[in-house]
Amino acid sequence: MMTIQTSNLGFPRLGRKREWKKTIENYWSGQISQKELTEQLEALHKENLLLQKHAHLDSVPVGDFSLYDHILDTSLLFNIIPERFQDRDVDVDLLFDIARGNKEHVASALIKWFNTNYHYIVPEWDNVEPKVNDNILLERFNFAKSLNVPAHPVIVGPVTFVKLSKGGNQSFEEKVETLLPLYKEVLQSLVDAGASYIQIDEPVLVTDESQSFETITKKAYDYFEEAGLSQYLVIQTYFERVDLKFLNTLPAKGYGLDFVHDHGHNLQLIQDGHLDKDKALYAGIIDGRNVWAADIEAKKELIETLQSYTDELVIQPSSSLLHVPVSLDDESLDESIAEGLSFATEKLAELNALKRYFNENDDTAYNELKERYHRFQNQAFKNVSYDFDSVRTSRQSDFSVRKEAQNNRLHLPDLPTTTIGSFPQSREVRKYRADWKNNRISDEAYREFLEHEISRWIDIQEDIGLDVFVHGEFERNDMVEFFGEKLQGFLVTKFGWVQSYGSRAVKPPIIYGDVKWTEPLTVEETVYAQSLTDKPVKGMLTGPVTILNWSFERVDIPRETVQDQIALAINEEVLALEKAGIAIIQVDEPALREGLPLRSEFHETYLQQAVHSFKLATSSVADETQIHTHMCYSQFGQIIHAIHDLDADVISIETSRSHGDLIKDFEDVTYDLGIGLGVYDIHSPRIPTEDEITTAINRGLKQIDRSLFWVNPDCGLKTRKEDEVVAALTTLVSAVTKLREDKDAQVS
Ligand code: GLN
Ligand code: ZN
Repeated sequence: MMTIQTSNLGFPRLGRKREWKKTIENYWSGQISQKELTEQLEALHKENLLLQKHAHLDSVPVGDFSLYDHILDTSLLFNIIPERFQDRDVDVDLLFDIARGNKEHVASALIKWFNTNYHYIVPEWDNVEPKVNDNILLERFNFAKSLNVPAHPVIVGPVTFVKLSKGGNQSFEEKVETLLPLYKEVLQSLVDAGASYIQIDEPVLVTDESQSFETITKKAYDYFEEAGLSQYLVIQTYFERVDLKFLNTLPAKGYGLDFVHDHGHNLQLIQDGHLDKDKALYAGIIDGRNVWAADIEAKKELIETLQSYTDELVIQPSSSLLHVPVSLDDESLDESIAEGLSFATEKLAELNALKRYFNENDDTAYNELKERYHRFQNQAFKNVSYDFDSVRTSRQSDFSVRKEAQNNRLHLPDLPTTTIGSFPQSREVRKYRADWKNNRISDEAYREFLEHEISRWIDIQEDIGLDVFVHGEFERNDMVEFFGEKLQGFLVTKFGWVQSYGSRAVKPPIIYGDVKWTEPLTVEETVYAQSLTDKPVKGMLTGPVTILNWSFERVDIPRETVQDQIALAINEEVLALEKAGIAIIQVDEPALREGLPLRSEFHETYLQQAVHSFKLATSSVADETQIHTHMCYSQFGQIIHAIHDLDADVISIETSRSHGDLIKDFEDVTYDLGIGLGVYDIHSPRIPTEDEITTAINRGLKQIDRSLFWVNPDCGLKTRKEDEVVAALTTLVSAVTKLREDKDAQVS
């Protein structure tokens, strides 16, 4: 019997307790020197490498570890430096300045890495002089070697790298060709240093577009073949299926395929004979993006199937483990739930159990995992019965009827002003919340503080003269985790952090069982805020699509069912707010666009299900209750019809950073529901001028009927300082007041 090997594509950088984040932030704040930064990070890198070695991997990835982002590392490696930073030496400080901006220059853009919640730094090609800078990849590879860790270098491939970048006058193909000799130099240096193979990541090959750049892809890999390098290259794909027939024409040692998120296609392609038997198959069989223990028996069977199609089988996670937390060891979870879970470290143990099963005829670990898996599946986590049909999925009346009922109730002025929900999460707010969570202060003391803060901000909104108020979301750490903590069926971990961008991490809740609303989640704070003012206070909830997208979802029942379960829970909360007299309820769906599947064949179904869940959550209210939704910047173009189908009375969206580009999307369809345009960028500490706001409003009014038009900032204000918020909103209200006066003057 052929033996199998194990490998990994990438390990979380954060460290078990986010040591990576803390170290980097300590450097940013000047608490440690550059030397200390380097030493501490090296220690962490070493720990990661040794942990993987001790998990008996046959090969451990190097090049996944980074000071910020691996795409940015690649940009620096090839001297693809944003023009505004080109007069600087390439060093750690330059790297951080490109990522975060500095006093003189803005940061490079951050974009979501495919359909994940990880963000990479977009390479900028304007006036660059590509060359190989300090070869950090080689240094890191040598570092692993010095620790006796069997390692393989990881580098993002030229096609993906260029595809994800922007700027410059060269065409896509020219940029790839410019980079080829530089790649050759780096790849050769790694081979010379003893790399037995190099993982070259080309995830763009799983996108619909990939067909359009097959020629240049082939050219690139033919070039590596001519350079004598192809026998060392494993072309790695993930997150979806690949066109294996094409991939198989690229000269390489082997190919990496995702067998978890491919909807079964990759296996089918192999069974259809599209993989040459002498190519190594790097099979991603353990889910790199979710936290569930593998169905180890099914994995064993998959391996048995794959073995007949390749002479060299390497099993590994489906993608880098960057997308899951480090280890279950530090969690104190109920064992009955813990045994159903698997974080990065435990996933490596699953690989090892499979390897031992096949190579050593040792089924001890395998059997244990199998038993655990079955025990978990038989738990009573499917314990709620739902009556989906009894809940409305469309509002009682059409928008025009609702609008009149809402006008009669709310009496809002021309161009109503509001905010998106959160106010600054000051140091004090975060400290109180942490103290309360750690039982350092009593429930009463915490409640008193929240009420104090809410009432202070009601007064501030009153002074500024906004029309629709919010309570400020001071009780929430995060718009999804907050709901995860309160709904049945969700589990919130202590250290289950996942990197989002740079030093920022999120802690997605885990949906392990049937979701149920058991008690009001937000009513108390909202009603308290409403009791302090005559202006309407908007209730603030996160929608089902976003809650699902930003959680680790269960996989034992269909995704759309989980989403509808969450929708029913949110519906309960919507009704509870309505019953308590709240006239406007906002259900945020910032993740709706990003959840769009990579392959377009799945878009329509996804959007239909998203719309269905949103409507399930929001349609039960009376006509005179106004439903808002909010989405952050996203390319709305292709999903605009779905956004309209949500039938929200008002949607607020980001437009200021895209300078009105987004409004174009709304030109093509008749968008005849209420819409609030973000008139200033909340991501910047800069206070907008009244002129800028007026211009933004006037631009929007060219396309959107004034009677449907709302004015608001782009997004929540939680990351801003209080004085910035007050100044910006005061300017906003002042701009609107003048526009109202102008209108009145015209009428009379
Ligand atoms: N209501 C949320 C807030 O204001 C919305 C956040 C978001 O869109 N990401 O913070
Ligand atoms: Zn937003």
